[in-house]
Amino acid sequence: MPSEPTIIRTPIQMQAHGHALRAAGKRIGFVPTMGALHAGHLSLIDYVRQECDVVVASIFVNPLQFDRAEDLDTYPRTFEADRALCAQRGTDVIFCPTAPAMYPEGYCTKVSVPGMSGLLCGKVRTGHFDGVTTVVLKLFNAVLPHLAAFGEKDYQQLTLIKRMALDLGLDVAVVGRPTVREADGLAMSSRNVHLSPEERQRALALWRGLQKARALADAGQTEARVLLDAARQEIEAVKPTRLEYIEIVDSTNLESLERLDRPARMAMAVWLGSTRLIDNAPLN
Ligand code: AMP
Repeated sequence: MPSEPTIIRTPIQMQAHGHALRAAGKRIGFVPTMGALHAGHLSLIDYVRQECDVVVASIFVNPLQFDRAEDLDTYPRTFEADRALCAQRGTDVIFCPTAPAMYPEGYCTKVSVPGMSGLLCGKVRTGHFDGVTTVVLKLFNAVLPHLAAFGEKDYQQLTLIKRMALDLGLDVAVVGRPTVREADGLAMSSRNVHLSPEERQRALALWRGLQKARALADAGQTEARVLLDAARQEIEAVKPTRLEYIEIVDSTNLESLERLDRPARMAMAVWLGSTRLIDNAPLN
């Protein structure tokens, strides 16, 4: 039986632990999460365990990245179950700071990756990605990881964090890992618990749309408009509450493409009732 993870609740204690591990020559791997852990998170923990000597997972529902108070209030919080899963997967440390520990009285500094953070999800979720890059840099400063793993499920987030690490010369390898899906193709997400059984069924249209576009691209179609129409048809067939966006973008800088003439991804955000789902996949 793997041992219980050490629980660390303040950035100062986490940083002291990180320094001690580094002094002992340990390679630190890090998986930042907001908890409500599922197989997607666990795949990141498994990956980091293979690559590093010590695995740190953070569980922090970061208020700075929520653009809707309701989403923050209803975000699932399942600490005891998360702790058990972390123990099962050989996580050494769970870093779970409180919001006041991360953002003490008077806190005001933000880290921003302009341009890219205003595309795709950033068009509607104003300020969301500034909240993400800010918290990730703060978490990196506390954990002092050599490597940090992020899911491609949140492809824009992964791309922004890679950019931030490059721009600021951070001494951490940012690694993207494939999206883990349910058997029927739905991308795992902590927010899936909010879907009614009927919405859960309709949610499969996102994956169907991505697959349809990919099949056309595999068959030689390079016009973004044609691929987008095909995917949109699948999604509109299930009458979503709202199709927020569907785009084909350059895999590196997230700029919208008209033609598949470089590595590209299709990305979308779809509302079913009060739940917002995102998904994406490479097209070539
Ligand atoms: P979250 O707890 O939603 O903030 O996610 C924490 C990390 O897990 C992020 O790097 C996410 O991209 C990643 N993640 C979330 N869902 C999945 C999934 N279905 N497959 C792979 N990684 C995921």
